[in-house]
Amino acid sequence: MARFADIIIDITHEKVDRPFQYRIPDALQGEITVGCQVDVPFGRGDQIRSGYVVGLSDTPSYDPERLKEILKVHAGTVSAGSQLIKVAWWMKERYGSTMNQALKTVLPVKQQVKQKESRWLCCSADREELMRQIKEAARKKYRARERLLRAFLDVERISYEMATQQLNITASTLKPLLAQKVLRLDSSVCYRDPTRLLLTGRAELDGSGALSESGPSIQLWLNEEQQQVVDSICGQYDEGIRRTYLLHGITGSGKTEVYMGLIDHVRARGGQVIVLIPEIALTYQTVLRFYRRFGDQVSFINSKLSAGERYDQFERARKGEVQIMIGPRSALFTPFCRLGLIVIDEEHEGAYKSETMPRYHAREVAEYMAASSGASLVLGSATPSVESYTKALQGVYGYYKIARRAKKDSVLPRVQVVDMRRELKEGNRSIFSGALQSLMEEKLEKREQIMLFLNRRGYSRFLSCRSCGEAIRCPHCDVTLTFHQDGRLVCHYCGYQIMRPPSCPVCGSPYLAPFGTGTQKIEAQVKEAFPKARVLRMDLDTTSKKGGHEKILTAFADHEADILIGTQMIVKGHDLPAVTLVGILAADLSLYAPDFRCGERTFQLLTQAAGRAGRDARAGDVVIQTYSPEHYCIAAAAAQDYEGFYQKEMEYRRLLRYPPSCALMTLLAGSPKEEMAQKAMELAQAAIGDCLKMMTERDADIQMIGPVNAAIYKLNDIYRKILYMKCENYAILIQIRDHIEEGLKKQGWSDKLSFQFDLS
Ligand code: ADP
Ligand code: ZN
Ligand code: ZN
Repeated sequence: MARFADIIIDITHEKVDRPFQYRIPDALQGEITVGCQVDVPFGRGDQIRSGYVVGLSDTPSYDPERLKEILKVHAGTVSAGSQLIKVAWWMKERYGSTMNQALKTVLPVKQQVKQKESRWLCCSADREELMRQIKEAARKKYRARERLLRAFLDVERISYEMATQQLNITASTLKPLLAQKVLRLDSSVCYRDPTRLLLTGRAELDGSGALSESGPSIQLWLNEEQQQVVDSICGQYDEGIRRTYLLHGITGSGKTEVYMGLIDHVRARGGQVIVLIPEIALTYQTVLRFYRRFGDQVSFINSKLSAGERYDQFERARKGEVQIMIGPRSALFTPFCRLGLIVIDEEHEGAYKSETMPRYHAREVAEYMAASSGASLVLGSATPSVESYTKALQGVYGYYKIARRAKKDSVLPRVQVVDMRRELKEGNRSIFSGALQSLMEEKLEKREQIMLFLNRRGYSRFLSCRSCGEAIRCPHCDVTLTFHQDGRLVCHYCGYQIMRPPSCPVCGSPYLAPFGTGTQKIEAQVKEAFPKARVLRMDLDTTSKKGGHEKILTAFADHEADILIGTQMIVKGHDLPAVTLVGILAADLSLYAPDFRCGERTFQLLTQAAGRAGRDARAGDVVIQTYSPEHYCIAAAAAQDYEGFYQKEMEYRRLLRYPPSCALMTLLAGSPKEEMAQKAMELAQAAIGDCLKMMTERDADIQMIGPVNAAIYKLNDIYRKILYMKCENYAILIQIRDHIEEGLKKQGWSDKLSFQFDLS
């Protein structure tokens, strides 16, 4: 029986890291659990305050004589706060963080934020006049003006920020509209802009059909396949069944409409809903779709919101002012108390895994949350993660497949794989294969749009010496510096940068030359090969400014360019019906990353990229250029064969004992002193040895790999070593982790050594 409880008084305060210890009186023994709400005397005057229990212990951390006693437990009511504290506790146990780290992740933090003055664009014209203006703008090909005016078909007012950042409207577009009094600019001090993405003000949901030109109307008739999924899940919901479902629908199969059907049903029964969408896909288009359908019930968050703005949104949710929260990973912690449904769109996305402590996966946390608060969980993807598909096959998850595109005459694109080794043999040294080159010409001729996808993040160009062969490296990290067009050399890991040196720092030779292919280089080559084509480029450099990603996509959607070149980023986001050709320039670049998931990621990226072609009636083409056409990930992506990919991938995972066939724990130890990192690893190995001795033979299938140097051995002047442990039983790995952690802590090394566990 625990005799002491750690209690936090104000969970919304920045300093949640300061729990207070109280004694549990005999009368309340057994009633106090982590997460429950209690009344305690607090401060000098012993005012009665209510707080939450965040930890229990048998031994006091302070003089027990001076500890105060808990007065009472709030029984019965399940508050959102106590739910979240339970989640934090679960995360701490599962991912091995401290309770503080877990609490800071799940609890909204209040911050003082000044009221902002905001400016709004309002429409002064009536509907008829507005339509006339839109037609005129369209006739004159004033695309930006048309786009802006169209937005007023949906809403009465738009924040100035939204117009300039998301809709990409410049002052010169606004000026004549303001002068002609079609629009006016209002200033008002108002409630903090709830989303910064959109709109407040009531959407004009009159269903007049005016919207159908610019996007989906408010509610589409679901097709038979979509309806079956909705009926089945809703039927179970009404029977009181709550479980996890995998919705496996090819790109363009209409998964979002299915989610909205489900949300309708759950809302009608009073349930609240959380929808997770990868940050990169949280565009104006997606957001508007939900807003049109659910209006004021919806709120959005994104990572650009300040802590204060996020807090405001969570506060509105807690008070019941909004019922549907849409956002990236962190939206999961919306404090709803009648949660009925969680949807995770693109559930395979890497962005759902947190890279800071606690290193949680949103899918796993969502599963726990759904189960403990009586909600269902729907995971949607065209390329489900190997983990989720395995669970679906095992019957742990309900499974639905939609194998057709939703739009009537939209068909899957024709895909061809080009072997670049052969191109080279035949004397083609350009980055475009013959097939891609001629398709590009054809599409440009027809004024259709093209996306070129470079399967690589950022740049690959580095400077190396033609005399001694040395590449210029970051002095703090174990990587080469990336060479930018403007002459800078930048470390993409720590930000270190220098100007291009005149000669080799090692041998003094002046012959330094760039190597590798980056999006900038491709842009230059495209412009050379197609001088008339208008080209846009989307990568870290062009999107680093606020709204940059959205701006480029909007411009492309408006056909302000013929070709969009980009990295991973172009795979998600807008529905771009005029894109009829997707060229994947170097499909294999991500195949050889030092990560057991790189094959899966390559398959997913290629399939998703290919899925962007031919979203409407015009047939789409996809060209995959590769040096390893026979690799199963590439072959399966070309054939759009998920099942084939999965079978091969699982063979590999089973053979090498990788998740999900086995649990895997990674221990990363880092220290500015190389010997220290090594020593930590030796200690960890010893601790594992101890554990093994205590285990029965059945448990002892533990396999240890390493320690080895991390793929990037030196990062930010820290040396990093990695140790892998594999075991069928996840719980055993957790035991081992706790043991190692204790051992390392006992050495009192925590300040000279950092260690990190990652379990999957
Ligand atoms: P996914 O999320 O599966 O890729 P979306 O939900 O974005 O697919 O739908 C793809 C396209 O099909 C969208 O333009 C959407 O408006 C359209 N669509 C979806 N369902 C239907 C339907 N039942 N009837 C007509 N069009 C639909
Ligand atoms: Zn040199
Ligand atoms: Zn660096």
